[in-house]
Amino acid sequence: MKKLTIGHLYPDLLNLYGDRGNIQCFRKRLEWRGMEAEVIPFLSGEKIDFTKLDIVLLGGGSDREQELVCGFLKEIRDDFREYVENDGVVLAVCGGYQLLGKYYKTDKKMIEGLGILDITTEWEPERLIRNIVLQSPLFERPVVGFENHGGRTYIGDHTPFGKVFYGLGNTGKSGYEGVVYKNVIATYLHGPLLPKNPHVCDHLLKRALQRKYGADVELEPLPDELEHKANSYIVNRYSDRKYILKETIKRHT
Ligand code: GLN
Repeated sequence: MKKLTIGHLYPDLLNLYGDRGNIQCFRKRLEWRGMEAEVIPFLSGEKIDFTKLDIVLLGGGSDREQELVCGFLKEIRDDFREYVENDGVVLAVCGGYQLLGKYYKTDKKMIEGLGILDITTEWEPERLIRNIVLQSPLFERPVVGFENHGGRTYIGDHTPFGKVFYGLGNTGKSGYEGVVYKNVIATYLHGPLLPKNPHVCDHLLKRALQRKYGADVELEPLPDELEHKANSYIVNRYSDRKYILKETIKRHT
């Protein structure tokens, strides 16, 4: 039986807005296809053997929690970087996204990140809080979620996860959201992201399965009518709002 091992990093500190629901989604969508997930939570300070992991989840947290996590990142930096460069699959959400970068500068502190992505984040007093809809070149179906962050993330030459159609995204101004790098998706979308966007879940599962079992692994489709309806409901609800960049989003049914 095919099996993926999922490392949940620092759930004691980084778990805002149900980010751990993403793990349940990975697990169920594997199980529904006759595969298995082993989930290993790594509490802050615990040793992490990245060579045993197929998927890593780094969730969101408050500035204070991120500052605490920062102390543990130095110990894992080199192994985590090697995992990413070896095409390890990562989903990093909000605070976790920021911590993959070089730093997050708040009004009080400079929080040093992992430096795996060449990005920086700077805090501004007005929080960016909103439902969000984006179109990612990875998928035909839009990606929907919820964002709540004080940090503005500057992604330099990195490829964004998607273009914002409704909502605010990386800086509230750039029109883009998140970063995609190798098999890493780093994004501000809480929510949890994956149950709302099963296509994103399957994309990450497929990458992890192919890395482990070979490039010819395919995922059989699941009956996702309800999930697609929920996704489309959000897309259509925001498709004519004023924050939308109108040019290309399609209405989905
Ligand atoms: N503390 C960070 C910020 O406010 C991340 C917040 C989050 O993970 N939701 O930008």
